[in-house]
Amino acid sequence: MSPFPRPDYQPLKRYHFDRTPVELDLSDNTNHWGAHPAALDVLRQADNNALARYPYLYADNLREAAAAHLGVPEECIATGCGSNDILDCTYRACAGDPDDLVAVAVPTFPMSLTWARMNGMSARGVPWEDALADPERLLEDRPALVYVCRPNNPTGHVVPTEWVEALLSAAGEDGPLVIVDEAYVDFGGDSFARRAAERPRMLVSRTLSKAFGLAGLRVAYGVGTPETTLEIEKARGPYKVNRVAAEAGAAALADTEGWVTRTVADCVACRERAEVALTERHLEPLPSRANFIMFRAPTGDGRADALGIRGHGVAVRPFVEQYPGGTDALRVTVAPWPLMERFLGALDAYLGQLEAQSS
Ligand SMILES: *Cc1c(COP(=O)(O)O)cnc(C)c1O
Repeated sequence: MSPFPRPDYQPLKRYHFDRTPVELDLSDNTNHWGAHPAALDVLRQADNNALARYPYLYADNLREAAAAHLGVPEECIATGCGSNDILDCTYRACAGDPDDLVAVAVPTFPMSLTWARMNGMSARGVPWEDALADPERLLEDRPALVYVCRPNNPTGHVVPTEWVEALLSAAGEDGPLVIVDEAYVDFGGDSFARRAAERPRMLVSRTLSKAFGLAGLRVAYGVGTPETTLEIEKARGPYKVNRVAAEAGAAALADTEGWVTRTVADCVACRERAEVALTERHLEPLPSRANFIMFRAPTGDGRADALGIRGHGVAVRPFVEQYPGGTDALRVTVAPWPLMERFLGALDAYLGQLEAQSS
């Protein structure tokens, strides 16, 4: 008998997508304006203690900085090694038995479905178009958890505030924990973080991997009532967020120089220019409030199109059957304009190749 006997666990695979080196990688939504300078300063000044001694048990300094950043009490913050960790711990804290359901508005971050199975729960994707028409579609069969990404990856849309309110009131006081993943909220859309600090059965997850440029450090936090954040921190051991990462993250959150504001403003400007450029090429970009744009795969075969563009030195991410209507899509991360020009150059070279083939 296998030492890993769980039948629901066996079919799981490690997360995988093509990460072979490429000249310009616009496939993973990380920050091409770089890392937050305050975090870099912390790393440059790291001393012996920073590495030789354990960190805080639960990253108290990061907690404090996140609380001050949002204007919520410290007890309302749970910390983690990236929001991947926050979300995984949240699922684990909620998991009861294999019939426990996680309802997810799809297409979205694929890990939101995988964590359910990792933690012995079942997952159900509810198409966004159905969920948008009626948030109660996410509450069918009494799920233990509901996951909503806002702004949503990979489509870039922000579900209306009233829709989230309607979902929360329909979920009610005995309903599921509602997770709002705000990984991209710094780029657009209002935040539910403060609301989550006061509302039982709600968790907002935030990360420093995107707008703060710290994906490599793995720092994030969740916001909920003190009762909710305690349950999440219980689902993980002590000393998780490393000492340097917690301190660097705290310094970035305390930013008074406006680095995030400035780089986000430039990102939004580049996003708008890129949307125009993609529209001119008849690729129907979806209006995005995040640091990426989803558009129709030129030939309808997303994987082949991504490979074709990669052939000209730029990686974008294919999504099979996830463009509205069910065709394939590509998603490009927004970067400073000279890099977007590089992307448009690769795209045009590929489109030219297609045209030459068909004539
Ligand atoms: C990138 C991303 C995250 C961030 O994950 P980290 O573990 O914090 O790096 C979370 N949620 C979504 C939807 C994302 O796209």
